[in-house]
Formats: sequence, structure tokens, C-alpha cells
Amino acid sequence: MRKYILLAAGIVIVLAALIFWYPGNDQTEKAELLKETAGPSAEIVETVAEPSVNPVEEKAALADLVAKYKGLQLIDAHNHGASFYKYKGMLNTWKEDAVHQVVLFGNSSEPAAIDTDETAWNAYQQYPELIIPYFSGFDLHDKGSLEVVKNNLEKGYFGLGEVAGASTASPSMSKVAWKANDPMDGYLPQIYDLIAAYKAPILMHVDPPNGMPVAKLEEALAKHPGTIIIFAHINAYNTPEEVDRLLGKYPNLYADFFAGFSVYNPDSGKHPELYIPVMKKYPNRFMLSTDSGYGIGGEEQAIDAMYRMIDLLGDSAVARKIAHDNLAAIIEAQPATVTQMKALRKLEQQTGKSYDKAKLSKAEAGTILAEAAKGE
Ligand SMILES: [Zn+2]
Repeated sequence: MRKYILLAAGIVIVLAALIFWYPGNDQTEKAELLKETAGPSAEIVETVAEPSVNPVEEKAALADLVAKYKGLQLIDAHNHGASFYKYKGMLNTWKEDAVHQVVLFGNSSEPAAIDTDETAWNAYQQYPELIIPYFSGFDLHDKGSLEVVKNNLEKGYFGLGEVAGASTASPSMSKVAWKANDPMDGYLPQIYDLIAAYKAPILMHVDPPNGMPVAKLEEALAKHPGTIIIFAHINAYNTPEEVDRLLGKYPNLYADFFAGFSVYNPDSGKHPELYIPVMKKYPNRFMLSTDSGYGIGGEEQAIDAMYRMIDLLGDSAVARKIAHDNLAAIIEAQPATVTQMKALRKLEQQTGKSYDKAKLSKAEAGTILAEAAKGE
């Protein structure tokens, strides 16, 4: 027994000696000393750290940002997750990361989009408070596209997108069967007028974000001033100066900011702070999105990037607009449609309930109808 006590004491002495002589100890002492002597700048000692590459630490950083900004009710303005397994798989993450609502669609401007449009609709029927369904399954070169757009907006979809308004550089978008040659191609001009009557926006992919495609986008914006055009991932392969120029010239242009691109994609140069001045200059026309984490380390990293932009904004009023209010205003301004009104009247007859239909918005009508359908 005595032998073991001696052994334990010996171990303690050796450990104590190791701790005392460990070179790191000296560093800690220096840091402590700096803290004591350096006054207000002492905080710098604590914040100078290598950027974290440890996924566990990244997760912790995201959790901190979520805790700080969950009250903003962040909306993801651009999400391709309209497949059953994708959106079901994201439900927990959205909840955990306080993503309040998601603009959901799937494929863009190709026949496969007809199916994913329906999936987005079904997701909305299941989760009307979470999902904002858009659609993209129409051939804008075909006159029949006008009928599809009208029917879908009547049904209760809130916007068109992501529509390929022009694409030659994007590996995925440049190949879609129904892409437009430019933002004035095919029936797009008629579609702009049609959706203006519904106050519905179009989320439009335009690449490259310069030259002829942008000249034609400008023509569309000028000729259809009542149509809300949201430039999809406006910050991708673009400059803050060009974004400033476009927003300054066209009040009906909105900017979908794919935060993950500017924060995490090496192609961006990773200087998201360069966009803060233009965001503050047009605080009513930016929105944030994940683009489902396209080209970066996944969708949750893209959510993380949205929170980092909010953190960089450092102005809670502007952050609230860009995180939530701007897109929410576009959605809430859409009135209930004739088709929704018919369905509501039918519902009233069936249930004996009555709704104040005079001022009902599309979103309010949509939620009532979805909840009623769930109860059936
Ligand atoms: Zn996209």
C-alpha cells in the first residue's frame, strides 16, 4: 500500500514539473501580462486566432451566431431542395439554425422542373408556415408557358424561379433545355406583364453577369417597371460597383445575395465585407440565400455564411430587412387569387366557418387552405 502512495506522489511531482517547464505556460503568462498591462486593446490578444477549420468549432461558431440573431427570422430566398428526401432531410437543420422560411423549388427551366415544382407545392401544403413555393417548369419559348404561369400563380405559388434568363458559363444552368437566350427571349416579356398583375417576383439566373445578358436584363427592367425581378446570386462573379449601378438605375430590381459564395467560395476572393456598403445603400432590396450550398461545403455552411453577413452588417435595422423583411414584404403584398377565393368559399360551405375575405393575402389564404386540406 505504502509503495503505491509513494508511486502516486512521484507521478504528481513529475507532472507538476512538466507543467511548470512546459513552454506553452510561458506564452499563457505573457498573454496574461499583456491583458493586465495593455488596457483596452488587450482584447486583441484573445481574438487573434487562426480561422477555424475544425468542423466542430465551425458548428459552435454557427450556434453562437444563431443564438445571437435568431430573432431576425432569417429567410432563405433561394433553395433547390424540392425533392422529398432533400427537404425532409433539412427540416431539423432549418429548425436548429433558426431558418424561419425557405423559398423552395428544384430544377430550373427544364422538363424535370415540372416534378420538382409539384414537390415544392406538396412541401408547402405540409408546412405552410415554413415553405414559400416557387416554380420553374415551363418552356418560355412556348406560348403555353403563359397558361402554366397563370395557373400556378392562381393556385398559390408565390414566384417564378429559378428561371434561366441566360447562361453560358454555369456548368449546370447552361445545359438546361428551356433556358432563355437572354432575359427578353421567347415569351418572357408577356410573362413579366402577367406576373406583375399578381405582384409575383421572378428569380432569374443571368450569367455571365455582364455583356449582352445584362444589357437585355436592363431592357426587361426598363420596359416592365411594374415587375419585380430578383437577380439570382447577384454577387456571384460580379462586383459591388456593378451591383450598385444596377440597383441605382432600376427600382424594380432586387438582389438575391448568395452569402456562401462571397464567404466560402475561393472564386469570390472571400471578401464579403466589400458588399456591406452597397447593402447599406439599398437596405430595402437585398435578401439572403443559400442556393442550397452550390459550389461550397454544403447547405449548412451556406446558412452559416448568411449569419456571417448579418454579423458583418452590424446594424440591426438593416440586418432585419435583409434577413427577413424585404422578401417577406414581396410575399405578403400578393393578394389572394380568384382560384383561392373560390376554394375558400367552398371551404366555408363545407365547414360553416367564415373568413374575412375582403383583405386576404395570398399567403393567408394559402395557409388556411393548406391547413384545411391537412385536416381532411
Ligand atoms: Zn440556384
